[in-house]
Amino acid sequence: MNDRYTTKAGVMGWPIGHSRSPRLHGYWLNKYGIEGTYEALAVEPNKLQWALREMPSQGFCGVNLTIPHKEAAMKIVDRIDDVAKRIGAVNTVIVGVDGKLEGRNTDAYGFTQNLMARGVKIKDKPVTVLGAGGAARAVIVALHNMGAGKIYLLNRTQERAEQLRDILGGAIEVLPWERGEASVKDSGLLVNTTSLGMQGQPPLEFRIDGLPLEAAVADLVYAPLETDLLRSAHRRGHTTVDGLGMLLHQARPAFQAFFGKDPEVTEQLRSYVLEGK
Ligand code: NAP
Repeated sequence: MNDRYTTKAGVMGWPIGHSRSPRLHGYWLNKYGIEGTYEALAVEPNKLQWALREMPSQGFCGVNLTIPHKEAAMKIVDRIDDVAKRIGAVNTVIVGVDGKLEGRNTDAYGFTQNLMARGVKIKDKPVTVLGAGGAARAVIVALHNMGAGKIYLLNRTQERAEQLRDILGGAIEVLPWERGEASVKDSGLLVNTTSLGMQGQPPLEFRIDGLPLEAAVADLVYAPLETDLLRSAHRRGHTTVDGLGMLLHQARPAFQAFFGKDPEVTEQLRSYVLEGK
């Protein structure tokens, strides 16, 4: 039982056992000597509304949300910030001073910060994005905010990519999945936002022979950390950006909102989070 001076936060998901967030936030709480807790909260989809509404009376200052709650929470919270509205999903819920629930989304921020940490600049450069799911939406919002040039968007289910283009606007060209390898020849960045290449999923079969050598390659998948895509990009000499960095950076604004400290993403943190897998 926590006393009333302990700041309580956590992550809600179903299932929740796989989440690295408790380890990640726990590392920062310990590092900065903050009197707080961050718990894994197993919340079934039909209990999400109840669980979120109970937060103030249970002493929670906020929570992160993971699969399958990110879209459902949009209909539950009282306020939604502009980025979350644009992404169409909430990954952080903060209890306001008035007790109201505010939905935010830090995935686009995490993607941007991770690219910047690797020195990748994409202003006015074309970008190829593979995938059109929830993660792709956050990535495209980030790319727009960073001033990327044209975005070539490819997805196995092409209609889903077309829907994303229509919702998000901007210079997005949807291409058939099979034409992807040709699209990369003028790209400054290639991003895999599909689940292909993840442990337990089929491999991503995508040739990068046509990608200019100065282009960077990013993969949102972080298990394994070095995907086949990143390994072949590394072999060709491209700057590579792995998915763990995005995961760590997206947690920073949430930690700051919960516990009042902007935490650092360090090599030591990366190793600590990886050890816990
Ligand atoms: P999602 O909404 O379910 O979308 C999955 C995407 O993968 C869709 O574009 C889907 O295409 C594609 N896909 C799945 N199986 C495929 C197959 N066999 N062949 C071709 N395409 C396939 O999932 P999400 O939330 O966007 O997450 C996608 C990945 O990003 C996951 O691996 C997730 O762990 C990772 N992620 C990482 C971070 C991070 O911080 N690093 C953050 C968010 C997500 P269809 O539309 O055709 O089904």
